[in-house]
Amino acid sequence: MNRARHGMATHWSNWSGSIVNHPRRWLQPPDEDELRRALSTLAPDDWPIRAVGTGHSSSGVVEVDGTLVSTGQLRGLVSVDATARRATVRAGTQLKELGELLYSHDLMLPNFGDVATQTIGGAIGTGTHGAGLELRNLSDMLVAAELVDAQGRLNTIDEHDPQRLRAAKVALGTLGIFTRVTLQLEPYADVERREFAVHTDHALAMFDDLARRNRSFDFYWYPRRDDVKLRMVNVAGGGTVSLPGARLLEVRGGAPYDVIPTHSGIPHRFEECEYALPADAWRACFDRVRRRMRSRWRHVVGWRVLVRTVAGDDALLSPCHGGDRVTISLHQNSTLPWRAFFDDMEPVFRDHGGRPHWAKKHGMDAAGLTPLYPQWAAFAQVRAVLDPRRAFMGAPLRRLLEVDDGRA
Ligand SMILES: Cc1cc2nc3c(=O)[nH]c(=O)nc-3n(C[C@H](O)[C@H](O)[C@H](O)COP(=O)(O)OP(=O)(O)OC[C@H]3O[C@@H](n4cnc5c(N)ncnc54)[C@H](O)[C@@H]3O)c2cc1C
Repeated sequence: MNRARHGMATHWSNWSGSIVNHPRRWLQPPDEDELRRALSTLAPDDWPIRAVGTGHSSSGVVEVDGTLVSTGQLRGLVSVDATARRATVRAGTQLKELGELLYSHDLMLPNFGDVATQTIGGAIGTGTHGAGLELRNLSDMLVAAELVDAQGRLNTIDEHDPQRLRAAKVALGTLGIFTRVTLQLEPYADVERREFAVHTDHALAMFDDLARRNRSFDFYWYPRRDDVKLRMVNVAGGGTVSLPGARLLEVRGGAPYDVIPTHSGIPHRFEECEYALPADAWRACFDRVRRRMRSRWRHVVGWRVLVRTVAGDDALLSPCHGGDRVTISLHQNSTLPWRAFFDDMEPVFRDHGGRPHWAKKHGMDAAGLTPLYPQWAAFAQVRAVLDPRRAFMGAPLRRLLEVDDGRA
Protein backbone atom coordinates (compact mmCIF):
# COMPACT_ATOMS: atom_id res chain seq x y z
CA MET A 1 0.00 0.00 0.00
CA ASN A 2 1.48 3.30 -1.03
CA ARG A 3 0.88 6.54 0.79
CA ALA A 4 1.49 9.91 -0.81
CA ARG A 5 1.16 13.55 0.26
CA HIS A 6 1.01 16.44 -2.21
CA GLY A 7 2.14 14.00 -4.89
CA MET A 8 5.33 13.14 -2.95
CA ALA A 9 5.65 9.70 -1.46
CA THR A 10 6.36 9.97 2.26
CA HIS A 11 6.49 6.34 3.22
CA TRP A 12 5.39 2.87 2.24
CA SER A 13 3.37 0.60 4.47
CA ASN A 14 2.20 -2.95 4.06
CA TRP A 15 -1.46 -4.06 3.87
CA SER A 16 -1.95 -4.40 7.62
CA GLY A 17 0.02 -1.25 8.49
CA SER A 18 2.41 -3.07 10.82
CA ILE A 19 5.44 -2.47 8.57
CA VAL A 20 6.39 1.05 7.57
CA ASN A 21 9.33 1.62 5.24
CA HIS A 22 11.16 4.89 4.64
CA PRO A 23 13.20 3.90 1.57
CA ARG A 24 15.91 6.29 0.42
CA ARG A 25 14.81 5.68 -3.16
CA TRP A 26 11.47 4.58 -4.49
CA LEU A 27 11.21 3.31 -8.07
CA GLN A 28 7.91 2.74 -9.84
CA PRO A 29 9.11 1.69 -13.32
CA PRO A 30 6.50 1.96 -16.09
CA ASP A 31 8.05 -0.95 -17.99
CA GLU A 32 10.82 -3.52 -17.93
CA ASP A 33 13.32 -1.40 -19.88
CA GLU A 34 12.98 1.46 -17.44
CA LEU A 35 13.42 -0.94 -14.52
CA ARG A 36 16.67 -2.23 -16.06
CA ARG A 37 17.89 1.29 -16.78
CA ALA A 38 17.07 2.51 -13.26
CA LEU A 39 18.78 -0.44 -11.55
CA SER A 40 21.87 -0.01 -13.73
CA THR A 41 22.32 3.52 -12.35
CA LEU A 42 22.07 2.54 -8.67
CA ALA A 43 25.19 2.70 -6.54
CA PRO A 44 25.86 0.24 -3.70
CA ASP A 45 24.86 3.06 -1.33
CA ASP A 46 21.33 2.73 -2.74
CA TRP A 47 21.17 -0.95 -1.75
CA PRO A 48 19.50 -3.05 -0.47
CA ILE A 49 16.96 -3.29 -3.27
CA ARG A 50 13.54 -4.74 -2.53
CA ALA A 51 10.69 -5.49 -4.95
CA VAL A 52 7.17 -5.11 -3.61
CA GLY A 53 3.89 -6.13 -5.17
CA THR A 54 0.75 -5.19 -3.28
CA GLY A 55 2.48 -5.42 0.12
CA HIS A 56 0.27 -8.13 1.56
CA SER A 57 3.22 -9.61 3.44
CA SER A 58 3.80 -8.66 7.05
CA SER A 59 7.24 -10.09 7.73
CA GLY A 60 10.82 -8.98 7.07
CA VAL A 61 10.44 -9.96 3.41
CA VAL A 62 9.00 -6.53 2.59
CA GLU A 63 11.22 -4.40 4.85
CA VAL A 64 13.71 -2.08 3.17
CA ASP A 65 15.55 1.17 3.86
CA GLY A 66 17.46 1.27 0.55
CA THR A 67 15.63 1.16 -2.79
CA LEU A 68 12.04 0.02 -2.98
CA VAL A 69 10.80 -1.11 -6.39
CA SER A 70 7.02 -1.16 -6.85
CA THR A 71 6.03 -3.59 -9.60
CA GLY A 72 2.48 -2.24 -9.94
CA GLN A 73 2.94 -1.05 -13.53
CA LEU A 74 4.58 -4.23 -14.81
CA ARG A 75 1.35 -6.01 -15.59
CA GLY A 76 -0.50 -7.93 -18.27
CA LEU A 77 -0.29 -11.05 -20.35
CA VAL A 78 2.73 -11.40 -22.67
CA SER A 79 1.93 -14.66 -24.50
CA VAL A 80 -0.07 -17.87 -24.24
CA ASP A 81 0.85 -21.36 -25.43
CA ALA A 82 -2.57 -23.04 -25.52
CA THR A 83 -1.18 -26.48 -26.42
CA ALA A 84 1.27 -26.59 -23.52
CA ARG A 85 -1.24 -24.75 -21.28
CA ARG A 86 1.37 -22.17 -20.38
CA ALA A 87 1.26 -18.40 -20.20
CA THR A 88 3.94 -15.76 -19.77
CA VAL A 89 2.80 -12.82 -17.70
CA ARG A 90 4.35 -9.66 -16.25
CA ALA A 91 5.18 -10.16 -12.59
CA GLY A 92 3.17 -7.19 -11.23
CA THR A 93 -0.14 -8.59 -12.52
CA GLN A 94 -2.62 -9.14 -9.70
CA LEU A 95 -4.09 -12.63 -9.37
CA LYS A 96 -7.71 -11.68 -10.05
CA GLU A 97 -6.75 -9.77 -13.18
CA LEU A 98 -4.61 -12.73 -14.23
CA GLY A 99 -7.54 -15.11 -13.70
CA GLU A 100 -9.70 -12.91 -15.94
CA LEU A 101 -7.03 -12.68 -18.64
CA LEU A 102 -6.53 -16.45 -18.68
CA TYR A 103 -10.28 -17.05 -18.82
CA SER A 104 -10.37 -15.61 -22.33
CA HIS A 105 -7.82 -18.30 -23.33
CA ASP A 106 -9.80 -21.07 -21.62
CA LEU A 107 -7.11 -21.50 -18.96
CA MET A 108 -6.97 -21.04 -15.20
CA LEU A 109 -4.60 -20.93 -12.24
CA PRO A 110 -4.89 -24.26 -10.38
CA ASN A 111 -5.71 -22.50 -7.11
CA PHE A 112 -6.03 -19.25 -5.13
CA GLY A 113 -5.60 -18.30 -1.50
CA ASP A 114 -8.15 -16.33 0.48
CA VAL A 115 -7.62 -13.17 -1.58
CA ALA A 116 -6.76 -12.55 -5.23
CA THR A 117 -5.29 -9.08 -4.81
CA GLN A 118 -1.65 -10.18 -4.56
CA THR A 119 0.69 -9.88 -7.55
CA ILE A 120 1.85 -13.08 -9.20
CA GLY A 121 5.47 -12.09 -8.44
CA GLY A 122 4.68 -11.63 -4.75
CA ALA A 123 2.60 -14.80 -4.49
CA ILE A 124 5.39 -16.85 -6.05
CA GLY A 125 7.94 -15.02 -3.92
CA THR A 126 6.54 -16.34 -0.63
CA GLY A 127 4.96 -19.71 -1.49
CA THR A 128 1.39 -18.41 -1.25
CA HIS A 129 -1.09 -21.30 -1.19
CA GLY A 130 -4.75 -22.19 -1.09
CA ALA A 131 -6.17 -25.50 0.11
CA GLY A 132 -6.25 -28.95 -1.49
CA LEU A 133 -4.74 -32.34 -0.75
CA GLU A 134 -3.41 -32.51 -4.30
CA LEU A 135 -2.95 -28.80 -4.97
CA ARG A 136 0.51 -27.33 -4.49
CA ASN A 137 1.29 -23.74 -3.62
CA LEU A 138 1.16 -21.09 -6.37
CA SER A 139 4.96 -21.04 -6.72
CA ASP A 140 4.80 -24.54 -8.12
CA MET A 141 3.26 -23.16 -11.35
CA LEU A 142 6.54 -21.44 -12.22
CA VAL A 143 8.30 -23.03 -15.21
CA ALA A 144 10.43 -20.05 -16.30
CA ALA A 145 11.24 -16.52 -15.19
CA GLU A 146 13.03 -13.45 -16.41
CA LEU A 147 14.61 -11.46 -13.63
CA VAL A 148 16.73 -8.36 -13.41
CA ASP A 149 19.83 -8.25 -11.23
CA ALA A 150 21.23 -5.34 -9.24
CA GLN A 151 23.15 -4.04 -12.28
CA GLY A 152 20.05 -4.09 -14.47
CA ARG A 153 21.08 -7.23 -16.37
CA LEU A 154 18.47 -9.73 -17.42
CA ASN A 155 18.75 -13.38 -16.26
CA THR A 156 16.53 -16.21 -17.46
CA ILE A 157 15.71 -19.21 -15.32
CA ASP A 158 13.91 -22.20 -16.81
CA GLU A 159 13.66 -25.99 -16.78
CA HIS A 160 17.14 -26.35 -18.32
CA ASP A 161 18.51 -25.57 -14.86
CA PRO A 162 16.10 -27.33 -12.48
CA GLN A 163 18.04 -26.36 -9.35
CA ARG A 164 17.79 -22.63 -10.14
CA LEU A 165 14.11 -23.08 -10.94
CA ARG A 166 13.53 -24.82 -7.59
CA ALA A 167 15.30 -21.87 -5.92
CA ALA A 168 13.32 -19.27 -7.88
CA LYS A 169 9.97 -20.75 -6.86
CA VAL A 170 10.12 -19.37 -3.30
CA ALA A 171 12.90 -16.78 -3.37
CA LEU A 172 11.63 -13.90 -1.16
CA GLY A 173 12.89 -11.40 -3.72
CA THR A 174 16.53 -12.36 -3.07
CA LEU A 175 17.53 -13.58 -6.55
CA GLY A 176 16.60 -10.40 -8.42
CA ILE A 177 13.37 -8.78 -9.59
CA PHE A 178 11.03 -10.94 -11.65
CA THR A 179 9.78 -9.06 -14.68
CA ARG A 180 8.08 -11.98 -16.46
CA VAL A 181 7.03 -15.38 -15.21
CA THR A 182 5.87 -18.38 -17.26
CA LEU A 183 3.24 -20.50 -15.55
CA GLN A 184 1.96 -24.04 -16.00
CA LEU A 185 -1.85 -23.78 -16.00
CA GLU A 186 -5.00 -25.91 -16.13
CA PRO A 187 -7.93 -25.95 -18.56
CA TYR A 188 -10.59 -23.51 -17.39
CA ALA A 189 -13.56 -24.86 -15.40
CA ASP A 190 -16.26 -23.15 -13.35
CA VAL A 191 -16.14 -24.11 -9.68
CA GLU A 192 -18.67 -24.40 -6.88
CA ARG A 193 -18.12 -23.53 -3.22
CA ARG A 194 -20.09 -25.25 -0.43
CA GLU A 195 -19.84 -24.31 3.21
CA PHE A 196 -21.22 -26.28 6.18
CA ALA A 197 -21.35 -25.64 9.95
CA VAL A 198 -20.52 -28.54 12.29
CA HIS A 199 -19.15 -29.18 15.78
CA THR A 200 -15.35 -29.31 15.87
CA ASP A 201 -15.14 -32.99 16.93
CA HIS A 202 -17.38 -34.00 14.03
CA ALA A 203 -15.24 -31.99 11.60
CA LEU A 204 -12.04 -33.61 12.87
CA ALA A 205 -13.55 -37.09 12.49
CA MET A 206 -14.50 -36.36 8.84
CA PHE A 207 -11.34 -34.44 7.92
CA ASP A 208 -9.35 -37.11 6.05
CA ASP A 209 -12.37 -38.33 4.11
CA LEU A 210 -13.45 -34.81 3.08
CA ALA A 211 -9.91 -33.85 2.12
CA ARG A 212 -9.77 -36.85 -0.22
CA ARG A 213 -13.22 -36.30 -1.76
CA ASN A 214 -12.94 -32.58 -2.49
CA ARG A 215 -10.54 -30.75 -4.80
CA SER A 216 -10.09 -28.01 -2.23
CA PHE A 217 -11.09 -28.45 1.40
CA ASP A 218 -10.33 -26.49 4.55
CA PHE A 219 -12.00 -25.33 7.73
CA TYR A 220 -12.30 -22.32 9.97
CA TRP A 221 -12.36 -23.09 13.69
CA TYR A 222 -14.10 -20.51 15.91
CA PRO A 223 -12.44 -20.57 19.34
CA ARG A 224 -15.24 -18.94 21.31
CA ARG A 225 -18.02 -21.25 20.09
CA ASP A 226 -15.74 -24.25 19.49
CA ASP A 227 -17.44 -24.99 16.20
CA VAL A 228 -16.28 -25.14 12.63
CA LYS A 229 -17.10 -23.89 9.15
CA LEU A 230 -16.13 -26.48 6.51
CA ARG A 231 -15.33 -25.07 3.06
CA MET A 232 -15.16 -27.13 -0.12
CA VAL A 233 -14.46 -26.01 -3.67
CA ASN A 234 -14.89 -28.38 -6.61
CA VAL A 235 -15.28 -28.26 -10.34
CA ALA A 236 -19.02 -27.65 -10.70
CA GLY A 237 -21.00 -30.84 -10.02
CA GLY A 238 -18.18 -32.65 -8.13
CA GLY A 239 -17.22 -33.33 -4.51
CA THR A 240 -19.33 -33.43 -1.36
CA VAL A 241 -22.85 -32.15 -1.93
CA SER A 242 -24.58 -33.05 1.34
CA LEU A 243 -23.18 -33.83 4.77
CA PRO A 244 -25.18 -35.65 7.47
CA GLY A 245 -25.03 -33.87 10.84
CA ALA A 246 -23.92 -30.57 9.25
CA ARG A 247 -25.84 -27.41 8.42
CA LEU A 248 -25.46 -26.11 4.84
CA LEU A 249 -24.48 -22.42 5.01
CA GLU A 250 -23.76 -21.43 1.43
CA VAL A 251 -23.53 -22.68 -2.15
CA ARG A 252 -21.92 -20.40 -4.71
CA GLY A 253 -20.68 -21.07 -8.22
CA GLY A 254 -18.68 -19.20 -10.86
CA ALA A 255 -15.15 -18.41 -11.96
CA PRO A 256 -12.36 -19.68 -9.64
CA TYR A 257 -10.94 -16.15 -9.23
CA ASP A 258 -14.32 -14.98 -7.89
CA VAL A 259 -15.37 -18.04 -5.90
CA ILE A 260 -12.18 -19.29 -4.18
CA PRO A 261 -10.95 -16.01 -2.62
CA THR A 262 -13.36 -15.15 0.18
CA HIS A 263 -11.86 -12.02 1.69
CA SER A 264 -12.87 -9.42 -0.88
CA GLY A 265 -14.54 -7.05 1.59
CA ILE A 266 -12.64 -7.65 4.83
CA PRO A 267 -13.98 -5.20 7.44
CA HIS A 268 -10.84 -5.23 9.64
CA ARG A 269 -7.19 -5.41 8.80
CA PHE A 270 -5.55 -8.29 10.63
CA GLU A 271 -2.21 -9.82 11.52
CA GLU A 272 -1.66 -13.48 10.82
CA CYS A 273 0.73 -16.17 12.02
CA GLU A 274 0.75 -19.45 10.09
CA TYR A 275 2.80 -22.61 10.28
CA ALA A 276 2.88 -25.58 7.88
CA LEU A 277 2.89 -28.84 9.84
CA PRO A 278 3.92 -32.29 8.59
CA ALA A 279 0.75 -34.15 7.55
CA ASP A 280 1.15 -36.69 10.36
CA ALA A 281 1.74 -34.05 13.05
CA TRP A 282 -1.00 -31.51 12.51
CA ARG A 283 -3.73 -33.19 14.56
CA ALA A 284 -1.68 -33.30 17.77
CA CYS A 285 -0.67 -29.69 17.11
CA PHE A 286 -4.23 -28.54 16.45
CA ASP A 287 -5.43 -30.24 19.69
CA ARG A 288 -2.88 -28.19 21.63
CA VAL A 289 -3.73 -24.99 19.76
CA ARG A 290 -7.43 -25.57 20.49
CA ARG A 291 -6.85 -26.19 24.20
CA ARG A 292 -4.40 -23.34 24.63
CA MET A 293 -6.57 -20.81 22.83
CA ARG A 294 -9.66 -21.78 24.78
CA SER A 295 -7.89 -21.72 28.13
CA ARG A 296 -5.66 -18.64 27.65
CA TRP A 297 -6.87 -16.48 24.74
CA ARG A 298 -10.62 -16.95 24.29
CA HIS A 299 -11.50 -13.62 25.92
CA VAL A 300 -8.97 -11.64 23.89
CA VAL A 301 -9.05 -13.36 20.50
CA GLY A 302 -12.32 -13.78 18.64
CA TRP A 303 -10.78 -14.44 15.21
CA ARG A 304 -11.08 -17.83 13.60
CA VAL A 305 -8.24 -20.27 13.00
CA LEU A 306 -7.80 -21.55 9.45
CA VAL A 307 -6.71 -25.16 8.77
CA ARG A 308 -5.73 -26.13 5.19
CA THR A 309 -4.07 -29.04 3.40
CA VAL A 310 -1.31 -28.24 0.88
CA ALA A 311 0.44 -30.79 -1.35
CA GLY A 312 4.19 -31.24 -0.98
CA ASP A 313 6.62 -29.79 -3.54
CA ASP A 314 10.33 -29.52 -4.34
CA ALA A 315 11.00 -25.77 -4.13
CA LEU A 316 14.11 -25.37 -1.99
CA LEU A 317 12.57 -22.90 0.48
CA SER A 318 8.93 -23.93 0.23
CA PRO A 319 7.28 -24.58 3.60
CA CYS A 320 5.82 -27.68 1.87
CA HIS A 321 9.21 -28.87 0.63
CA GLY A 322 9.49 -32.65 0.75
CA GLY A 323 5.93 -33.71 1.61
CA ASP A 324 2.30 -32.81 2.17
CA ARG A 325 1.62 -30.32 4.95
CA VAL A 326 -1.36 -29.00 6.86
CA THR A 327 -1.26 -25.31 7.66
CA ILE A 328 -2.73 -23.77 10.79
CA SER A 329 -3.13 -20.04 10.82
CA LEU A 330 -3.99 -17.64 13.64
CA HIS A 331 -5.45 -14.16 13.16
CA GLN A 332 -5.92 -11.09 15.31
CA ASN A 333 -7.11 -7.54 14.51
CA SER A 334 -4.10 -5.45 13.59
CA THR A 335 -5.33 -2.78 16.05
CA LEU A 336 -5.45 -5.25 18.97
CA PRO A 337 -2.41 -6.71 20.74
CA TRP A 338 -1.34 -9.67 18.61
CA ARG A 339 2.29 -10.20 19.51
CA ALA A 340 1.76 -11.79 22.94
CA PHE A 341 -0.84 -14.14 21.44
CA PHE A 342 1.43 -15.26 18.59
CA ASP A 343 4.48 -15.51 20.90
CA ASP A 344 2.55 -17.84 23.18
CA MET A 345 1.30 -20.06 20.35
CA GLU A 346 4.42 -20.33 18.17
CA PRO A 347 6.28 -22.80 20.45
CA VAL A 348 3.37 -25.22 19.98
CA PHE A 349 3.82 -25.11 16.20
CA ARG A 350 7.58 -25.53 16.54
CA ASP A 351 7.23 -28.52 18.88
CA HIS A 352 5.42 -30.31 16.04
CA GLY A 353 7.94 -29.53 13.28
CA GLY A 354 6.09 -26.52 11.82
CA ARG A 355 7.65 -24.19 9.25
CA PRO A 356 6.39 -20.57 9.38
CA HIS A 357 4.78 -18.87 6.36
CA TRP A 358 7.45 -16.55 4.95
CA ALA A 359 4.99 -13.69 4.47
CA LYS A 360 3.29 -13.74 7.88
CA LYS A 361 4.27 -12.85 11.43
CA HIS A 362 6.67 -15.21 13.18
CA GLY A 363 9.59 -14.98 15.55
CA MET A 364 12.04 -17.35 13.86
CA ASP A 365 15.47 -16.48 12.50
CA ALA A 366 17.98 -18.24 10.26
CA ALA A 367 19.42 -20.30 13.13
CA GLY A 368 16.03 -21.84 13.84
CA LEU A 369 14.96 -22.13 10.20
CA THR A 370 18.10 -23.80 8.79
CA PRO A 371 17.45 -27.26 10.30
CA LEU A 372 13.87 -27.22 9.00
CA TYR A 373 14.96 -27.00 5.35
CA PRO A 374 17.14 -29.82 3.97
CA GLN A 375 17.97 -27.72 0.87
CA TRP A 376 18.86 -24.53 2.78
CA ALA A 377 22.53 -24.56 1.71
CA ALA A 378 21.55 -25.29 -1.92
CA PHE A 379 19.38 -22.15 -1.96
CA ALA A 380 22.24 -20.09 -0.54
CA GLN A 381 24.50 -21.36 -3.35
CA VAL A 382 22.07 -20.24 -6.05
CA ARG A 383 21.69 -16.86 -4.32
CA ALA A 384 25.48 -16.44 -4.14
CA VAL A 385 25.69 -16.89 -7.94
CA LEU A 386 22.76 -14.64 -8.89
CA ASP A 387 23.37 -11.92 -6.29
CA PRO A 388 27.05 -12.24 -5.31
CA ARG A 389 27.21 -8.77 -3.71
CA ARG A 390 23.99 -9.33 -1.70
CA ALA A 391 22.33 -6.27 -3.18
CA PHE A 392 18.88 -7.69 -2.41
CA MET A 393 19.68 -8.55 1.23
CA GLY A 394 18.78 -5.96 3.85
CA ALA A 395 19.12 -6.56 7.60
CA PRO A 396 15.64 -8.14 8.00
CA LEU A 397 16.35 -10.71 5.28
CA ARG A 398 19.80 -11.44 6.66
CA ARG A 399 18.15 -12.25 9.99
CA LEU A 400 15.89 -14.70 8.16
CA LEU A 401 18.39 -16.28 5.79
CA GLU A 402 21.90 -15.92 7.18
CA VAL A 403 23.03 -17.47 10.45
CA ASP A 404 25.07 -14.92 12.43
CA ASP A 405 28.35 -16.72 13.03
CA GLY A 406 29.98 -13.62 14.48
CA ARG A 407 32.09 -12.98 11.35
CA ALA A 408 29.92 -10.19 9.89
C1 LIG B 1 -5.75 -10.42 3.41
C2 LIG B 1 -4.65 -11.38 3.11
C3 LIG B 1 -4.95 -12.67 2.71
C4 LIG B 1 -3.93 -13.58 2.42
N1 LIG B 1 -4.26 -14.86 2.09
C5 LIG B 1 -3.28 -15.76 1.89
C6 LIG B 1 -3.60 -17.12 1.60
O1 LIG B 1 -4.76 -17.50 1.48
N2 LIG B 1 -2.57 -18.00 1.44
C7 LIG B 1 -1.27 -17.62 1.57
O2 LIG B 1 -0.38 -18.47 1.45
N3 LIG B 1 -0.94 -16.33 1.83
C8 LIG B 1 -1.91 -15.42 1.98
N4 LIG B 1 -1.58 -14.12 2.24
C9 LIG B 1 -0.15 -13.73 2.14
C10 LIG B 1 0.14 -13.19 0.72
O3 LIG B 1 -0.27 -14.09 -0.26
C11 LIG B 1 1.66 -12.95 0.57
O4 LIG B 1 2.01 -11.93 1.46
C12 LIG B 1 2.09 -12.58 -0.85
O5 LIG B 1 3.48 -12.61 -0.92
C13 LIG B 1 1.59 -11.19 -1.19
O6 LIG B 1 1.88 -10.81 -2.52
P1 LIG B 1 2.22 -9.28 -2.81
O7 LIG B 1 2.05 -9.03 -4.25
O8 LIG B 1 1.48 -8.42 -1.88
O9 LIG B 1 3.78 -9.33 -2.48
P2 LIG B 1 4.59 -8.46 -1.41
O10 LIG B 1 4.01 -8.74 -0.06
O11 LIG B 1 4.68 -7.06 -1.85
O12 LIG B 1 6.02 -9.16 -1.53
C14 LIG B 1 6.21 -10.47 -1.06
C15 LIG B 1 7.62 -10.98 -1.39
O13 LIG B 1 7.73 -11.20 -2.78
C16 LIG B 1 8.82 -10.45 -3.31
N5 LIG B 1 8.41 -9.95 -4.62
C17 LIG B 1 7.27 -9.29 -4.94
N6 LIG B 1 7.27 -9.00 -6.26
C18 LIG B 1 8.44 -9.49 -6.76
C19 LIG B 1 9.04 -9.49 -8.04
N7 LIG B 1 8.43 -8.94 -9.11
N8 LIG B 1 10.25 -10.07 -8.18
C20 LIG B 1 10.88 -10.64 -7.14
N9 LIG B 1 10.37 -10.65 -5.90
C21 LIG B 1 9.16 -10.10 -5.72
C22 LIG B 1 9.04 -9.31 -2.33
O14 LIG B 1 10.37 -8.82 -2.39
C23 LIG B 1 8.74 -10.01 -1.01
O15 LIG B 1 9.86 -10.75 -0.60
C24 LIG B 1 -2.56 -13.18 2.53
C25 LIG B 1 -2.26 -11.87 2.93
C26 LIG B 1 -3.29 -11.00 3.22
C27 LIG B 1 -2.94 -9.61 3.69
